[in-house]
Amino acid sequence: MTEPSTILVDTHCHLTLDAFDNDRGQVIQRALTTGVHKIVVPGIDLESSQEAIALSETYPSIFAAVGIHPHNANHWNPSYREKIISLAKSSKVVAIGEIGLDYHRNLSPKEQQLNVFRFQLDIASELKLPVIIHNRDATSDIIDYLVIWSKRQQVLVGSGMGVLHAFSADVTTAFQMIDAGFLVGIAGPITYKNAASLREIAIKIPSSSMLIETDAPYLTPHPYRGKRNEPANVALVAEHLSEIIGQDYRTTARITSQNAAGLFGWQNGTNYSILH
Ligand SMILES: [Zn+2]
Repeated sequence: MTEPSTILVDTHCHLTLDAFDNDRGQVIQRALTTGVHKIVVPGIDLESSQEAIALSETYPSIFAAVGIHPHNANHWNPSYREKIISLAKSSKVVAIGEIGLDYHRNLSPKEQQLNVFRFQLDIASELKLPVIIHNRDATSDIIDYLVIWSKRQQVLVGSGMGVLHAFSADVTTAFQMIDAGFLVGIAGPITYKNAASLREIAIKIPSSSMLIETDAPYLTPHPYRGKRNEPANVALVAEHLSEIIGQDYRTTARITSQNAAGLFGWQNGTNYSILH
């Protein structure tokens, strides 16, 4: 078994998507072989939230988040509230997500995105769960909502408010969100040549505020860019991150895994390992 110091966590991976239909079991096995002993699978709608829970019940190393992605906000109806609450009570659900705002693709009208974001932040408050946040070109509204929301939070399951997944805003925003109790999710783009701003953020923010993730099947790190991403590749994110911040790989693995354990409320170490 890999020793705890090299255990990695992929804190954001869409294993429920069709892209993994042909080889999901092998993908999960490859992750374990690489040292990725925990994977958080967020939902993007009700169906994928249910599927994430089903995966988490099949694989001890998988945890689920439930929520409606901003792209799907236009499907919201009032019955969703109770449905999400009931899904979130499943024992392997560690967060409400993936929720947030996306003004880049605007697949749902802005007003609807804002409403659905607020409804789901309320659910997270009620259940004392952290949130997994998607932000694309919506930084100002994201900050407004999350700063207000974080002030209302009392006791959470873990030790933080949530994570700004695949963080792509600027360093000032990163610090504002850290001050509000959030972690910053570092994904494959940090390995890209044009990622000067992400590298600056990684260097400036403390390791205690970082999570690592793949966002697979998207955001494939260098040198596999263009291919399907998978959770084993979170090791490449950890390697590049370590190089950029001048920190030993094992230390990066240990700290980011501890951060994930703190946020999502599981014990660090080897419990829930699939290597029964
Ligand atoms: Zn995602």
